[in-house]
Amino acid sequence: MTNEIRVITEKCKGCNLCVKACGFGAVTIKDKLAIIDLAKCTYCGACEDVCKFKAIEIIRDDVDRSGFKSYKGVWVYGENRDGEFAEVVFELIGEGKKLAKKLNEELSVIVIGDKSKDLIDKLTPFGVDNVYYKEDKVLKDYETNTYTRVIEDAIKAYKPSIILYGASSEGRSVAPRVAARVKTGLTADCTGLDINQDNDLAQTRPAFGGNIMATILCTRRPQMATVRPHVMSKAEKTKSATKINIVELKTQVTKEDLHTKVIKYVKEAKGNVNLVEADIIVTAGRGIQGPENLKLIQDLADALGGCVGASRAVVDADWIDHFHQVGQTGKTVHPKIYIACGISGAIQHVAGMSSSDMIIAINKDPEAPIFNVADIGIVGDLFQVIPKLIKELKK
Ligand SMILES: Cc1cc2nc3c(=O)[nH]c(=O)nc-3n(C[C@H](O)[C@H](O)[C@H](O)COP(=O)(O)OP(=O)(O)OC[C@H]3O[C@@H](n4cnc5c(N)ncnc54)[C@H](O)[C@@H]3O)c2cc1C
Repeated sequence: MTNEIRVITEKCKGCNLCVKACGFGAVTIKDKLAIIDLAKCTYCGACEDVCKFKAIEIIRDDVDRSGFKSYKGVWVYGENRDGEFAEVVFELIGEGKKLAKKLNEELSVIVIGDKSKDLIDKLTPFGVDNVYYKEDKVLKDYETNTYTRVIEDAIKAYKPSIILYGASSEGRSVAPRVAARVKTGLTADCTGLDINQDNDLAQTRPAFGGNIMATILCTRRPQMATVRPHVMSKAEKTKSATKINIVELKTQVTKEDLHTKVIKYVKEAKGNVNLVEADIIVTAGRGIQGPENLKLIQDLADALGGCVGASRAVVDADWIDHFHQVGQTGKTVHPKIYIACGISGAIQHVAGMSSSDMIIAINKDPEAPIFNVADIGIVGDLFQVIPKLIKELKK
C-alpha cells in the first residue's frame, strides 16, 4: 500500500496545530508553512484531523481485499509448556470463540511439540472446532526456527483469517517471525479485540506510553495479534464435550533445522516472582530508602499473596535484582492489584503497569504523578501506612 500526504500551501496558515498533534515529530513549520518529514510520517491522520483549514490531505490507497475471501477462521496458538497448555491459551480460546461467532467462522488451535497430540483432549470442553497439531521428537522444546516453519506452512495450507498468540516470551518470539514469513502485520500486546463492520479484526492496545488506546487494523491476511496474559477472561467450559476435527501438520523437521539446543532448564531461583502472571504486585520505589526496608514490601506482598516488584531506581541502586523491575526497560505487568510504594510515577514506570486493574499508590508527596494513574491514592509515609495495612490484613 502506498499512501500520499500533502500540504495544500494556499490553505496552510502555519498555525502549529499539526505540529502539536503529530506524535512522531514528523511535522515542522517553516516560513508559516507545515513541512512533513516523510521518513517519520506514519500517515496516521492526526494532523489531517486537527487542521482547521483543511490544509493537509492524505490520499490512502484502497486496501486490496480481493484475496481476503480465501482466509477463514480464527486460530489460537496453543503454547505448549512441557506437556500443558499455557494458561493464556484458554484466555485466547475464550476471546477467539467470541470473534469466531461474530464472523460465523470456526475456532481452531494449533499445537506443536513432541507429545502435542496428547494435549488435544484438554480442549474438548471448550468448544474448539479444529486442532492442527505437529508432533515430532525434534520439537520437544520450543525452538524459533522450526516452530516458525510449522506455523508458516500451516498458514499457507489452511489460510486462517486471524491468529492469536499469548504475549508470553514464546508468543513474542514466534509471532513476529511468522508475520515476517507470511508477509503480514502483527499487533503486539493487545488489550482488546473485536470485529468491525468490515469483518476486520479491530486490535486495541495502549500506545504512546499508555497515554492513548490505539485501535489497529491489518491490511493483510492473516491478521495476527499477541495478547497479554490475564487481560481476557478464560473460556468457559461448554455443557457437553465437543467433537474436534483433528488435522496433522505435514512439515518435515530434522535436528539439523534446530538453531538452538536446550541443554537444561533452570527454575527461577528468585523466590515467588512471576511478575508477568501475578495477580497482586507490591512494588518498591526509591521511597523505601534502602535495601533493608524491602522486607516491609515483602511482608505486605506476603500478606496479600502477591509478588514484589521494583522501580528502576531501586534496581539501579542494587537493592534488588533487575528481574523485579517494572516499566519500559523492565517487565510489563497487568495484575488485578498493583500497589506502588514510594514510587514517583515516571512515565517509564507507568508504561509497564498502567494496564493493572486497580492501582493503589502510597506516596508522601500529594503531587506525585503516580496519583494521576492511581485508582486509590494514599498520601502518607509508607513506613507508617504499610505496617497498618499489614496489621489489618492479618486480622
Ligand atoms: C530510557 C529509560 C528507561 C527507564 N525505564 C524504567 C523502567 O523500566 N522502570 C522504572 O521504574 N523506571 C524507569 N526509568 C527511570 C524513571 O525515569 C524514574 O527515574 C524511576 O522510575 C524513578 O523511580 P522511583 O519512582 O522509585 O524514584 P523517585 O522518582 O525518586 O521517587 C521516589 C518517590 O518516593 C516518595 N517517597 C519518598 N519517601 C517516601 C516515604 N517515606 N513514604 C512514601 N513515599 C515516599 C517520593 O515522594 C517520590 O515520589 C527509565 C528511565 C529512562 C530514561
